[in-house]
Amino acid sequence: MPDVRLVNVTKRYGRVIAVEGLNLHVRDGEYFVLLGPSGCGKTTTLRIIAGLTKPDEGRVYIDGRDVSGIPPEDRNIGLVFQHFEIFPFMTVYENVAYSLMIQGLDEEEIERRVYQALEVAGLNEVADRYPEELGAPELQRCSIARALAKGSRLLLLDEPLGSLDPETRERFRFTLRSLVKGRGLTAIHVTHDQEEAMAIADRIAVFRRGRVLQVGTPMELYERPASIFVANFVGETNFLEGVIERSGERSLVRLRGDLLIEAGGSNLRAGSRVVIGVRRENILLEEGKAEGLNALPGRVIRAAFLGKIIRYRVELDNGDLVEVKQPTRLGRFFGEGERVYLIFPAEKVLVYPYPEDLRYELALR
Ligand code: ATP
Repeated sequence: MPDVRLVNVTKRYGRVIAVEGLNLHVRDGEYFVLLGPSGCGKTTTLRIIAGLTKPDEGRVYIDGRDVSGIPPEDRNIGLVFQHFEIFPFMTVYENVAYSLMIQGLDEEEIERRVYQALEVAGLNEVADRYPEELGAPELQRCSIARALAKGSRLLLLDEPLGSLDPETRERFRFTLRSLVKGRGLTAIHVTHDQEEAMAIADRIAVFRRGRVLQVGTPMELYERPASIFVANFVGETNFLEGVIERSGERSLVRLRGDLLIEAGGSNLRAGSRVVIGVRRENILLEEGKAEGLNALPGRVIRAAFLGKIIRYRVELDNGDLVEVKQPTRLGRFFGEGERVYLIFPAEKVLVYPYPEDLRYELALR
């Protein structure tokens, strides 16, 4: 079964560097997601693995074998795209059978493989229908069935849920993952949707501008984002500027206006400028002056009651703005203008060295 390794892969288009010095290892049987904003090199990476784009530098290994000289059709890869690339004049059965016919397999073998793939993809009942009679989810199942029928153990999926409506997209994530896991395939899936990535992946590589910033499980990326960009891109995070007073397993950070906050671990020297990151859902609003360091005073400037959660925008007494997403069951509703204290659990407050260009780090591109 296939694992995929990219070693020092670079691809340029004129002056644009689509991917640069890329090193990635996708393990056998893994559901791996390439996540990042538009134009960061995800599709280029997928095309390089498929053999559709030739890298300028570096090597790709599939199953331990250098595939540099091997054309796409001989890489035993199933490709699934956002736009299904289904032939409109062929039935579902014929679409799935097509590449097997090209391969010259005998009719019996083709029939066996196609029906098996249609069954796995949940399409048995529509085998004789034409694409125009089907909805987007069935069409996408059809392109998946086609990849399965070919016997590919490696699926490359480029925004495979992109053409589905939001509700179907959410359901289809699980269909796709269980299909891959149930058959012991390896999948590499491209998306710019962080929630989709979290829901479907064993591991995620976060891309930015042609480079991989971090690889980890959804939980690792959420709990320990290695950079401000990753903390911002994966989840909804507030960032505040400050200076380290004391570091160690817990650090103490002085924010603007001399507000003190206890934060997670850091080994930065006292006096270092930092940015702290706190996810919206990790902050609680309380009315009283709570004991301890981690209650910062402020005033609610926007409150939206959404049923199971309440969204707040709070202006801290130092003028910084903080967004909060609080489960309704965890406290009372605070209206606009009310004085509050924001409670930050220290272990959830991430500390980053102040970057060269904070605006660049915070841009979601
Ligand atoms: P998207 O989600 O928008 O497709 P992506 O992360 O998949 O984005 P790529 O499509 O890999 O990004 O593109 C990376 C960079 O390379 C972009 O700046 C893009 O404009 C450029 N690029 C990609 N393919 C080509 C090409 N064939 N010719 C010229 N430039 C290209």
